[in-house]
Amino acid sequence: MSTLFEKIIARDIPAEILYEDEVCIAIKDIEPQAPVHFLVIPKKVIARLGEAEKFDQSRLGHLLLTASQVARELGLVDGYRTVINNGIHAGETVPHLHVHVLGGRQMKWPPG
Ligand code: 5GP
Repeated sequence: MSTLFEKIIARDIPAEILYEDEVCIAIKDIEPQAPVHFLVIPKKVIARLGEAEKFDQSRLGHLLLTASQVARELGLVDGYRTVINNGIHAGETVPHLHVHVLGGRQMKWPPG
């Protein structure tokens, strides 16, 4: 069965797409937690960071560089936060790896 994000990548479910290439897609989060909140998602399904393998190394790097590129394009000059929720304790809800990028307001530390 396809993951939610595979359905978005296949255009079976609509999403606001900010960027796409052969490796990943960046979409606006449907329930934004900051003025800017987008997700960078690999097209290859990796359930979560903890299940990434050595051969995913360049794919993982690509996700972070894409997060940085899209954040720059969206004008997040004062900073932004990247988050990867891995598993139950982190609050992961979609079992298809994604990097959250949140910006446009002051973030707090420690996170909840
Ligand atoms: P997680 O909780 O797994 O770290 O993050 C999943 C994210 O996916 C959440 O921030 C949630 O708002 C977002 N999300 C869930 N369903 C959809 C959807 O149908 N479209 C979009 N664009 N985002 C979604």
